Amino acid sequence: MSAQGNAEGIVIAIDGPSGSGKSSTAKGVATARDLAYLDTGAMYRAMTWWMLRHQIDVADAAAVAEAAWRPVISMGTDPSSPTVQVDGTDVARAIREDTVTANVSAVSAVPAVRDRLVAMQREIITRARSEAGGIVVEGRDITTVVAPDAPVKLYLTASAEARAQRRSKETQTGDIAATQADLARRDMLDSSREMSPLTQTEDALELETTGLTLDEVIAIVVKLADEAVGAEEGSAAL
Ligand code: C5P
Repeated sequence: MSAQGNAEGIVIAIDGPSGSGKSSTAKGVATARDLAYLDTGAMYRAMTWWMLRHQIDVADAAAVAEAAWRPVISMGTDPSSPTVQVDGTDVARAIREDTVTANVSAVSAVPAVRDRLVAMQREIITRARSEAGGIVVEGRDITTVVAPDAPVKLYLTASAEARAQRRSKETQTGDIAATQADLARRDMLDSSREMSPLTQTEDALELETTGLTLDEVIAIVVKLADEAVGAEEGSAAL
């Protein structure tokens, strides 16, 4: 059954630590069911790129908060070619650079940054639900803060080694030990910040992906999405 059948499209919320396979899974599920796709991490990265570009000291939370309203961030939600622009510049590549990765956890811990980006994320979700049949959203606080009422809520995990290996492959860095150390550092910062830390809630289904292929993970999530759509259509017909 297609998720497209819903009058108000489905929301599939996926959280998890860095390298757990969220992006590939979310994109694969969105493509399989013709849904929109939103990478919220890219939005925090875009905000960080802009801060660095404008020489804002990212260790100064007050300075970051003061500037947080300024960048114009726009997200393209087609899973086959997701885009991210800041002030009209395509930053898809630039936001993956090491300097952004090293500073994004500090920027994303600032409440004014989160307030602004969460509001944008909810707007994108609302639009996709009415215009695109639904959306797959991935990040760190989607199941807890951004879309806690989503009918499908998942928490993806994988062993530290598997996550480092996947991330090294993506970024084409050979130093897996350094990648693993960087992921551990970011997970620690993302899980310990005061506002919206990465947490696994009881109502989010944990999916341990270490021994699974990407296609297997996508198939599991597509099945859950189809079941959720079926359940909603069934209850609407009553
Ligand atoms: O997913 P990705 O690794 O690109 O995310 C980059 C960073 O953005 C994370 O380390 C985290 O600090 C932040 N983030 C967040 N909340 C989200 C998504 C990402 O704080 N929903």
